[in-house]
Amino acid sequence: MLIIPSAVPMNIELECGACGHRQAYAVPTPDCELCSNDWMEARYDYDRVRRLWPDILRQRPFSMWRYRELLPVENDNYQITMGEGGTALLRANNLGMMLGTPNIFIKDERQNPTNSFKDRQAALVISMMKEAGIKELVVASTGNVAISYSAYSAHAGIKLWTFLPSLVPPEKMREIAIYGSEVVKVTATYDETKKVAARFAKHKGILADRGIRNIGTREGMKTIAMEVAEQLAAELGPPQPGIPWRTPDWYIQSVSGGMGPVGFWKGYEELYRMGLVDRLPKLAAIQAAGCAPMVHSYRKDLPEAEPVRHPNTRVITIATGYPGPAYKFLYRVIKEHGGTFEEVTDEEVFRALHVLAKMEGLSVEPAAATAFAGLFKLLSLGVIKRHEVVVVNCSGHTFPVEKFLLDDNWLKVVPASVAEATPIPTPARQPATEGLLGALDQLDERVKRIAIVEDNPEAARLLRRILQTQGDFQVFEAHTGKEGVALIRTTRPDVVLLDMMMPDMDGFAVLDSLKADEELKDIPVIVITAKELTPKDQKRLQGQIEMLLQKGSFMDDDLLEGINALLGRNKGDDTA
Ligand SMILES: *Cc1c(COP(=O)(O)O)cnc(C)c1O
Ligand SMILES: [Zn+2]
Repeated sequence: MLIIPSAVPMNIELECGACGHRQAYAVPTPDCELCSNDWMEARYDYDRVRRLWPDILRQRPFSMWRYRELLPVENDNYQITMGEGGTALLRANNLGMMLGTPNIFIKDERQNPTNSFKDRQAALVISMMKEAGIKELVVASTGNVAISYSAYSAHAGIKLWTFLPSLVPPEKMREIAIYGSEVVKVTATYDETKKVAARFAKHKGILADRGIRNIGTREGMKTIAMEVAEQLAAELGPPQPGIPWRTPDWYIQSVSGGMGPVGFWKGYEELYRMGLVDRLPKLAAIQAAGCAPMVHSYRKDLPEAEPVRHPNTRVITIATGYPGPAYKFLYRVIKEHGGTFEEVTDEEVFRALHVLAKMEGLSVEPAAATAFAGLFKLLSLGVIKRHEVVVVNCSGHTFPVEKFLLDDNWLKVVPASVAEATPIPTPARQPATEGLLGALDQLDERVKRIAIVEDNPEAARLLRRILQTQGDFQVFEAHTGKEGVALIRTTRPDVVLLDMMMPDMDGFAVLDSLKADEELKDIPVIVITAKELTPKDQKRLQGQIEMLLQKGSFMDDDLLEGINALLGRNKGDDTA
C-alpha cells in the first residue's frame, strides 16, 4: 500500500487532560509526570500544518494517512497500511425521504479492510508499536478490535494475544484465529475479561494495549472527522468564504467504550483550532438498553459513569458495562456543546438493521444498526430537527469466516470458576488468585525455544511471524553467523533455523562450530536458504542438519510441521 510521507518533521507533545502539563511524546503513552492523570492528548504544531493544508492534501489519495502531519508516527517507513480509511460518505436518499430529513449522511466504515472502523485505530496503534520496536501485545476485546488488531499485527509481524468474553460469536473468534493470533475465551463479562488480560500481560511481562488511554486509538479515530469535514464540503459546499471544510450538526454513533466519538471530537477540535471549519458538532452516543451505563449516568447527571454489572443485550459488540474514562470526557463535551446520550431496545436495533438493508442496500452488524435506531428515535423525539445535517457512523459489518479452515486447537478457554474468582473492580486491591494465575500460566507454556540465525531482516521477520502464529515458541534472533553461535550458546534453543549465506561467518561455518562443540552438537538445525546447493554443498550438509527448506518455496505449515516433528509432537499439540 501507498506510504504517504509527512511534509514536516513531526513536532508532537503530550498534554495532560487534567492539569495541562506538557511533556515529551513517548510510546506506549505514559501518564502525566506531574499529576499522574492517565488521559494525555497529542498536540502538534497546528500553525505549521494550517499553512500546508489543504493545499498539499489535494495531491494525496483519499486515505486516513493523508492527514499524516497530525498522526503520531515519526518515521514514514513504519506506516502499517492496508487501505484503511478514505471510506465513502453516502447520502441516505431513501431513508431521508422516508424520514423527511434530506441531509442524512452515512459514513460507511464497513469499507475498511476488516469491515469495521476499528481498522483506523489498529493501523495507527500497530504502526506506533512497530516504530517503538514492540513485538508482542495483549488486547481484550468484544470482537472487532481483536479482528482488526489481528490483521494489522499479522501484516506488521507482531504477536497478538486476544482475550474475549465467551459471548463473542464463534465466527468472530474463528476470524481472529485465522490471522494467527492467540484466542483466549474467558467465561465472564467483557469487563472481567479485561482484568484477566491485564493480569496475564503483567504476569508475562507483555505490553497490554491501554485502549482509550493510548493516544494512538483516539488519533486513529479522529481521521473520521477530517474525512467527513472534507466530504461534507464537497457535498454541500463550504460553509462560508475562507472556511474550506464543513461540520455536521450531529455525529451519531453506537458506543461501548466511546473511542469513536472521543476521536471524532478531537478531530473537529483540531480542525476548528486551525480555522478549517467554523464550528463544532453535537455528538449523539447510542447504547443498547440492556447495557446503557452512559445513558443512565447522563440522565442522573453523574460526571462519572455508574457501571452495569450484568449486560443484557444481543448487541455483544457494544456490551461494555464499565465505560471507562471516555464517559467523563463525553459528559463534559455534551454538557458544554449540546448533543445527547440515548438508548434503544434490541428490538429497535434489529428493526433498524432490516430497514437499512432494505432502504439503502447496506447490510450491517447489530452494533452499527444501533446508531440508526438511535437516529430514528432522536428524530421522533424532536431532539434532531428535520433540517439538520446528520452523519451516522455505519461502524461495521463482519462477515462470517469459512468454518472448515482451522483445526480444533485454536481456542484456549479460561474456565468460569477461575474467571469468577477475579475480584470485581476494587481498583487498589489486587489479590493474586492462585487458580487464575495457574490458568494464565498454562496459556503461555512456551517451553520450546527457537533460534533464528538470518542476516536478512525481512526473512527473519517472516520466520518470526510464522512462529508467532503458533503459541508456544519463544523466539531468539541473530543477524550474523558469529552472533548466532553466541546466541545458541547462551539460549540453548530446541531448534535452530539457519540461513546459509551470511557475510561474516556463513551457515556452513556456523554448523561446523556447533558440531565441534560437545554441548551444542545435538541441537537440531533446519537450514533455510536461497542458495542453489551444489552437490558438494549437499555433501557437506549430510548428517549435519535435520531439514532443508528452499526460501520462497515453502509454506508456513511446512516449517511448523518440520519443527513439531523434530520436537516429537503433532502440530497443535498445544497447551490448552
Ligand atoms: C467498537 C464498535 C463500536 C463502539 O465503538 P466505541 O466508539 O469504541 O464505543 C460500535 N460499532 C462497531 C461495529 C464497533 O466495532
Ligand atoms: Zn497532569
